[in-house]
Amino acid sequence: MPVLTRLVPSPLFVEIRSGALDALGGILADQRLSASGRIAVAISNGSGAAMRRRLEPALPGADWYNVDDGSLDSAVRLAESMRGGHYDAIVGLGGGKIIDAAKYAAARVGLPLVAVATNLAHDGICSPVSTLDNDAGRGSYGVPSPIGIIVDLDVIRQAPARFVAAGIGDVVSNISACADWELSHAVTGEPVDGLAIAMARSAGENLLRHPGNTQDQDLLTALAEALVLSGIAMNIAGSSRPSSGACHEICHALDVLYPKRSAQHGEQVGLGAAFASFLRGERELTGLIVERLASHGLPVTAAQIGFTEAEFTEAVHYAPNTRPGRFTILEHLDLSPSAIRDAYADYVQAVNS
Ligand SMILES: [Zn+2]
Repeated sequence: MPVLTRLVPSPLFVEIRSGALDALGGILADQRLSASGRIAVAISNGSGAAMRRRLEPALPGADWYNVDDGSLDSAVRLAESMRGGHYDAIVGLGGGKIIDAAKYAAARVGLPLVAVATNLAHDGICSPVSTLDNDAGRGSYGVPSPIGIIVDLDVIRQAPARFVAAGIGDVVSNISACADWELSHAVTGEPVDGLAIAMARSAGENLLRHPGNTQDQDLLTALAEALVLSGIAMNIAGSSRPSSGACHEICHALDVLYPKRSAQHGEQVGLGAAFASFLRGERELTGLIVERLASHGLPVTAAQIGFTEAEFTEAVHYAPNTRPGRFTILEHLDLSPSAIRDAYADYVQAVNS
């Protein structure tokens, strides 16, 4: 009997628990990732200093690199400065911007990356995508996924609540992204991957229905696990498809059209997911998404993140340009600006009713 199977690309280890940070050196040695302790640690210029003071004594073989910001330039500079250091691995220690810059730099120098997340703002902690600011606003770059993920729940609890809530928006948007993928399958015949959808959607559904708040250990664990599953779903799919549909196209359009004003990724994609679900006619789901986002203080209207109806309309109209070839409810309906304005007015009315 032939045994047919497939290999699922996944991290070597995932440690989500209280106290994981102080075990970092031991984890790297136990996983045979760095027996010598020769690692490069990328940290933020600001809040990274306190982390460095705390961890430096336990990581004597580490070199520390400050990352200025989440720009492509910073990521390239980081790669250049680490070159020739003969490291076993790179550790990205910080929020989403640091991990994205470290992922990109690790890919450039051909070393494995361990992501040590200090907040849970988006699904980049485990995804094969690095999102960096560039001359055109913001770009997404394909990179290898992190080889290990460490989330210390004690550290996450001290992160600003806004940076944890945003991650819930990103995970919940999986539900809308998967619906867009299935729509494309029905309309265009695009193949779907049932395993990728199962992982991405389960992650989203869990957070959609989780009643906890961002100080709640159980919710933080669920969120960290959901972000990891989202990343693996993208690896299985070979693209960001299971976690990125119209929700993300709208977010990318806001980033491109209003680069200095855009809100957090997770805030924008959550709003995008609610509006995309409304456009697909999924009124009950829209209500559930809006209710959950609002319960975590996440925006559910454009006004709540400082955009006028006209600006949001323009972004939704522009959105399909941000991901050419990706078919979502936006490409399917191909709405005119006035039709988008009307639909958004109906959406706002439904949200407020
Ligand atoms: Zn996202």
